[in-house]
Amino acid sequence: MAVSLEAARSVLARQFGYADFRPGQEAVVAAVLAGRDALAVMPTGAGKSVCYQVPAVVLDGLTVVVSPLVSLMADQVRALKEAGIRGAYLNSTLTPAQQAEVLARARAGAYDLMYVAPERLADPRFTAFAAEAPIPFVAVDEAHCVSQWGQDFRPSYLAIGDFIAALPVRPVVAALTATATERVRADIVRLLGLRDPTLTVTGFDRPNLRFAVERCEPKRKDARLDAFIDERRAESGIVYCSKRACVEEVCAHLRERGIAATRYHAGLSPEERQRNQRAFVADDAPVMVATNAFGMGIDKSNVSYVVHYNMPGSVEAYYQEAGRAGRDGAPAECLLLWCDGDIATGRFFIEQESANEALTPEESEVVRAGRRRMLEAMVGYCYTTDCLRRYLLRYFGEDGEGEEGLALVDRAGGGVGTAMEAGAAAAAAGDAAAAGGSVAGGGPALASPDPRCCSNCAGEMETVDVTAEARAVMRCVHELRGRFGKTMVVDVLRGADTEAIRSRGLNRAASYGSCDAKRPLLMEVVELLAAGGYLAITEGTYPVVCAGGRYREAARDDFSLCMKRTASKAKRGAAARAAGGTGSGATLTASDEALFERLRALRKRLADEAEVPPYVVFPNTTLAAMASARPATAAEFLAVPGVGEKKLATYGEPFLAEIVAFQEKG
Ligand code: ADP
Repeated sequence: MAVSLEAARSVLARQFGYADFRPGQEAVVAAVLAGRDALAVMPTGAGKSVCYQVPAVVLDGLTVVVSPLVSLMADQVRALKEAGIRGAYLNSTLTPAQQAEVLARARAGAYDLMYVAPERLADPRFTAFAAEAPIPFVAVDEAHCVSQWGQDFRPSYLAIGDFIAALPVRPVVAALTATATERVRADIVRLLGLRDPTLTVTGFDRPNLRFAVERCEPKRKDARLDAFIDERRAESGIVYCSKRACVEEVCAHLRERGIAATRYHAGLSPEERQRNQRAFVADDAPVMVATNAFGMGIDKSNVSYVVHYNMPGSVEAYYQEAGRAGRDGAPAECLLLWCDGDIATGRFFIEQESANEALTPEESEVVRAGRRRMLEAMVGYCYTTDCLRRYLLRYFGEDGEGEEGLALVDRAGGGVGTAMEAGAAAAAAGDAAAAGGSVAGGGPALASPDPRCCSNCAGEMETVDVTAEARAVMRCVHELRGRFGKTMVVDVLRGADTEAIRSRGLNRAASYGSCDAKRPLLMEVVELLAAGGYLAITEGTYPVVCAGGRYREAARDDFSLCMKRTASKAKRGAAARAAGGTGSGATLTASDEALFERLRALRKRLADEAEVPPYVVFPNTTLAAMASARPATAAEFLAVPGVGEKKLATYGEPFLAEIVAFQEKG
């Protein structure tokens, strides 16, 4: 099956309108075309679809794509059609008669690619079809669903291996996923029966995302959110909340302010969830307020911001959710608002979840310890004074230092041992201290901090040295022998005169009254020490503060701890201005912006007419490039990134006409 990569490149350019493969894509496509199985680990937005869509066009026969994202299949097929690719889907949303028709057409060779829900693989009608149809290639999307160690285990995924093994001619198999610890990765290879797969891991950096963390008391969160969204009224975004009730409140609040917001959480009926998701994808409701139930596989490329109204329980979850912004490559903002209560909620969830599982007490403690470390790493992200991007990449095992953009590991075999894997393993082991090491000391300063990178690099935060307070806290926890909670530790340090202290004789402790720092600051120092692994805070109804894994390190002479504070308003304003606006991507002049808005309106009209989501017509990046390049001929139009021949044929005329009309009016 030696099909040249040139053929693939030409499909990429002609039908998808992309000049080049992105890192990672080429390795996967080349492996598949050479008849080799592949395992691809790429973060959300890296472009996994191209890895199977391009081979589907190039290879003879039908490519089967197994995906759990049933509700997206219709849109995906429509998007393929827009690119001139013959696609179909098979899932339970079709009636038996419709399914039979799809299979009949597939038998007649009508499709290049068929999305199939995993449940269909066990359907006798489908297996009968597959036993006869030429299927050169099977792609398994969201492949981590096969593993019980993954977050989204689906029993139906276990049948995929058998399905493949039963085919008369074994196809090439590619497994794609965004999340894969070493354990999950090994499960994917074993359970899907991948044979000597190439492993492609693309870097986790998303250069177009800007990260910001702000500590925000609950009563001020709405006002902060309002200000943030008001600066981005024309944009589409997601607001994640940790609880359903919070989703309801925030969504209602935004609607009252005249913002077309919609909501999504597991407490809504499937119909409403689907309706709201569609409204969001179609830009009818550009703001989605949701719990973490929303988003897996949502292919909406023009999400310009993701706000976390609460702190999530792990860096994995945070990065996955925040990563839904800016999939079109345009600048996008990821803002995390958090408060002390969020940390308490996180600890409460750990207790709840592990109590629900049918595990032995020892097993539940292992689970709890893992989740606790994941939570502490997340808290570390909130507190770090270091570059936020670097913190995230370090967590995923990439330092970012000296590396440009995406780090690519492309190696033969399904074995283990790459740098990336070592990092992922550390992350999986929940090594919060390693990931959050920069919490203490602040880490080395960046050569030239870029304000567009993150709020820390923009200097929106000021660094305060709290080493003395940290030492006092450590001494106090030592003296109290890990028997009391945060409030008691802080009260003892401040020499509070309370009944609780008197009755336990703690007013005679050596550390009693040894520190006169303000209460909120000391509370924060305790959390910071826990985030760095120097202390540990148990969960449960009465959490106590005790020694952490790095307890001893805090006694060393070179120990230091820094904390960040919100900088003065003036300084923040300057930093925000330096960071520049977000939105359409390219740097546009005022006149380009005006044209961009017209093209956007035109896109919405055409999308509504064709009943497809707007990004299927063109992503924002393409509109921005159009507004800036102002093509006047078909050839110039084709040269705009994101325009392929099919798109030129379908949309060239109306867009060129709009540009001419705009130019004539001046
Ligand atoms: P994933 O499934 O990995 O989350 P997608 O396949 O949905 O990501 O792709 C994310 C975005 O990247 C899409 O908007 C897609 O159009 C764009 N994209 C994919 N490959 C390329 C490429 N080679 N060049 C430019 N844009 C690309």
